Amino acid sequence: MDQQNQHSYRACLWPFVIIAMLCGALWYTGFPRLLAKSACDQTIHYRIGSIDPLFDKTAEKFKADLINAESVWEKPSGKELFVYDPAGRLTVNFIYDERQTLSNEVETLVKSAESGEQSYQSQVQKYQELVTQYEQKLSAYNKDVAYWNSHGGAPPAEYTRLEQERQDLVAMQATLSKLASKVNVTVKQYNQTVGELNQTSSQYQKTRSSKPEEGIYAESEHKIDIYHYSNEDELVHTIAHEFGHALGLDHLNDQDAIMFANTSESTEATETDIVALNRLCSASLADRVAENTRKLILNLRQQ
Ligand SMILES: [Zn+2]
Repeated sequence: MDQQNQHSYRACLWPFVIIAMLCGALWYTGFPRLLAKSACDQTIHYRIGSIDPLFDKTAEKFKADLINAESVWEKPSGKELFVYDPAGRLTVNFIYDERQTLSNEVETLVKSAESGEQSYQSQVQKYQELVTQYEQKLSAYNKDVAYWNSHGGAPPAEYTRLEQERQDLVAMQATLSKLASKVNVTVKQYNQTVGELNQTSSQYQKTRSSKPEEGIYAESEHKIDIYHYSNEDELVHTIAHEFGHALGLDHLNDQDAIMFANTSESTEATETDIVALNRLCSASLADRVAENTRKLILNLRQQ
C-alpha cells in the first residue's frame, strides 16, 4: 500500500468511526430505552399558566379540577401520567371568552325567569283568592239588600252594618284593582326576562356552534387553553379531554367517551377510552414515531 492509498483508506474509515461513536453515545445516554418507552411511561409535568380574573374561582379550586381530570386517565392506567409541577413545561390557561360571558348571562336569566314565574304565580293565586272572597261577600251583601228592600227597608242597626259592608266591598275592589296592576307589571317583567333569555340563549348557541371547542391543546406551544364551562363536571371533562390529547389520544366515535369531539359532563373514561389508552400505553416511542410519520405522509398525500 503506498502512502497515498493508505491516506484515502483512513479517510474512508472516519465516517464509520463517527457513526460508531454517536451510536455509543446514544446507547450510553439511554436512547434505546427511551425508544422502547411508551407515552404512559413519561409523566407530563404541567402547571397553571394564567387564570382570567373574570372567573369567579380561585387557583386552588382550578388546581383541584386539574387533579380530578388527571385521575380520569390515571385510575384506569394505574400510572402517574400527569403531575402538577410549578416548573412544568405544559401550561393550562383559563381564558374567559364570549361563550363564558353568554353562558353566565343565560344562567342568571334562567334564575331570574324562574323567580319571576314563582312571584307572578303566587301573586295570581293571591288575586284569585281575593276575587273569590269578594264575590262571596258581594253576593251575601246583595242578598241582604234585596231582602230588606222587599221588606220595606232595613232597621237602623242593619242599615249601618250594610253600609259598613258596602264600604268594605269598595275597599276590597280597590285592593283587587291594585293587585291586578301589580300582577300585570310582574307578568310584563317576566315576559321581558323570557324574551331576553331566548335572545341570549340563541346568541350563545350560535357562538358555540361557530366555536364548538371548550378547550384546545396546542402541542407546539405546550399549552392547553380552556375557554368555557357550564359546570364543574363539564370543566373536569374538558380538561381530561385536552389531557387525553396531550397524552397522544385522538377523538373517538363514542359519544359518552372523554375523547368524543363534543363536550359533555362525563368524568369517567368509557371502555373505548380505556382501549385507546391501553393501545397508547403499549405502543413504544418508536411505534409512535412510525405512526406519526404514517399520519404525516397520509396528510401530505391528501393535500
Ligand atoms: Zn378534542
